[in-house]
Amino acid sequence: MRLLLVEDNVPLADELLAGLQRQGYAVDWLADGRDAAYQGRSEPYDLIILDLGLPGLPGLEVLAQWRAAALAIPVLILTARDSWAERIEGLKAGADDYLSKPFHPEELYLRIQALLRRSHGQANQPTLQAAGLHLDEGRQCVLRDGAEIQLTAAEFRLLRYFMLHPEQILSKSHLAEHLYDGETERDSNVLEVHVNHLRRKLGRSVIETRRGQGYRFGAPAA
Ligand code: CA
Repeated sequence: MRLLLVEDNVPLADELLAGLQRQGYAVDWLADGRDAAYQGRSEPYDLIILDLGLPGLPGLEVLAQWRAAALAIPVLILTARDSWAERIEGLKAGADDYLSKPFHPEELYLRIQALLRRSHGQANQPTLQAAGLHLDEGRQCVLRDGAEIQLTAAEFRLLRYFMLHPEQILSKSHLAEHLYDGETERDSNVLEVHVNHLRRKLGRSVIETRRGQGYRFGAPAA
């Protein structure tokens, strides 16, 4: 999953960036509201974390512009401590959730996981589930029939994307856009290697290859 972090407090942004990357997210970081208003619309993000007090353009206006442009991506806003007015204005402008500063990073991670499940039709599940698999996003491993299967960081990132998009045909370029940040070079051969590793661990039929189209995860066996 690819996230946009918009935060002008550099030490906080550094900390969040490192933490989110450890959680297996590809993250682009911006500090300026005008840049965010543009890039949030032009890149295929899965979720956006938006500070409200920003140089360039206030976060509330950035959010209002995105929603006016029919951008439906989940947005979690970061608000000043105890500012109920900011929270209310943010929710009115179309925020999906909020956190008041200061917050514990663990709370941010859990809210992101919940927002992503909710935006992919899995609101009723406490963990990410698909095709008989349960993903433990905290420990970055997968469970099937109570047995734990270990994953590398790259396998975890790929499997999480597949499990949020079961039975959908996903091209390699689409996967690369959502698994790597804007700075990372995208190599579809590497993706193929990770798909094959996942098949070795989870069974061949769990990821189907559609020639010329891409991959399909969790499709019922033909
Ligand atoms: Ca700020």
